[in-house]
Amino acid sequence: MKKIAILGSTGSIGTQTLELVRENPDLSVVGLAAGSNIDLFEQQVREFQPKLVSLQSEEACKELKTRLADMDVTVVCGMDGLIAIAEMEEAQVLVTAIVGMIGIRPTIAAIQKGKDIALANKETLVTAGHIIMPLAKERGVSILPVDSEHSAIFQSLQGENRERVRKLLITASGGPFRGKAREALENVRLEDALHHPNWSMGNKITIDSATLVNKGLEVMEAKWLFGVGLEQIQVVVHPQSIIHSMVEYVDGGIMAQLGMPDMKLPIQYALFYPDRRPMKGKRVDFYALGSITFEKPDMETFTGLKLAMRAAREGGSVPTVFNAANEMAVRLFLNKKIRFLQIPEIIEMCMDAQKRIASPSVEEILACEQETYELIRTKF
Ligand code: NDP
Ligand code: MG
Repeated sequence: MKKIAILGSTGSIGTQTLELVRENPDLSVVGLAAGSNIDLFEQQVREFQPKLVSLQSEEACKELKTRLADMDVTVVCGMDGLIAIAEMEEAQVLVTAIVGMIGIRPTIAAIQKGKDIALANKETLVTAGHIIMPLAKERGVSILPVDSEHSAIFQSLQGENRERVRKLLITASGGPFRGKAREALENVRLEDALHHPNWSMGNKITIDSATLVNKGLEVMEAKWLFGVGLEQIQVVVHPQSIIHSMVEYVDGGIMAQLGMPDMKLPIQYALFYPDRRPMKGKRVDFYALGSITFEKPDMETFTGLKLAMRAAREGGSVPTVFNAANEMAVRLFLNKKIRFLQIPEIIEMCMDAQKRIASPSVEEILACEQETYELIRTKF
């Protein structure tokens, strides 16, 4: 029996992880945390019977306690709740499926307790990779990628000598606005930005995919996960999302992982690594597919990717500023407070304004996040 805890169980990755628990009787859930979707969360707790559960606000936790009075379950709350679940003695693996840099402290707490991490929460690595990766190494903990591109790279590295890697090729669908000129993005509606051509995901990452910020975050995520230099990472637009990413070796040979765009495969791979389990679902039909294509990313239109590359190059606290500014800007866009093209504008404004710290501590990262939010609040 493999015992897991999930942070962000009511979200896109969280619910798909729970589907896998339903399909694999040797997985069991010992802890669950979510934000505010109390109705779905209650159903999950009743179905999966975890010992420890957490919601974001005090009120939600109070309400949950009342609803679950007939059950043998402990309710915890907020950041303390996330950390308590991350540290649970019973759990072997923590699935980090919350969104945003709120995942930093619980992820570090879990690693300190020796839990393996099935990592979806990329914002945590982007901002604190320099702390998380050495700590994981020191504690002998595996960071297993859930993000489809990173899972593809991880799968393409199996059985190979990592010293022989020449570069990582991260594929990108290009999002719903691929091929559009900048002027055409002036009046993008929220509904259009939320309509991803190939993947069904949470709102924040769907917007990040439309701005190509997601690909920029993934470049930084890959740099930390696989310990390569930025110059060894190349983004390739591949609109059909069949090749999930590739690794080129020194002899010019390229290993790729292909499959339907379905997050359940990378989630399952992370949970059972190094084993593979049968899985239902559609398969790639090459006759029906006919062809797949590749393009260079348009960084002049999608400046989010260009700014991410700048943040990655500058390093230190700059990726935190990039990420925090993006988190806030996406929230404003989702609330229809700003236009689509203002997302990269806000990121750039924050990056230009901030002082860089070379190797920020967790406290400095969180302070830098707050300063970035403050700066945006003064203007929007
Ligand atoms: P969703 O928005 O669908 O889900 C986010 C989850 O986090 C929800 O369960 C939400 O709870 C919970 N949450 C949000 N804020 C808090 C908080 N303060 N405390 C506790 N829980 C909180 O996101 P996704 O599943 O799409 O993405 C999760 C992560 O995985 C992101 O980092 C994303 O970049 C990454 N990822 C996602 C992919 C996908 O296909 N979705 C693919 C690759 C990576 P509630 O809804 O109850 O408020
Ligand atoms: Mg991805």
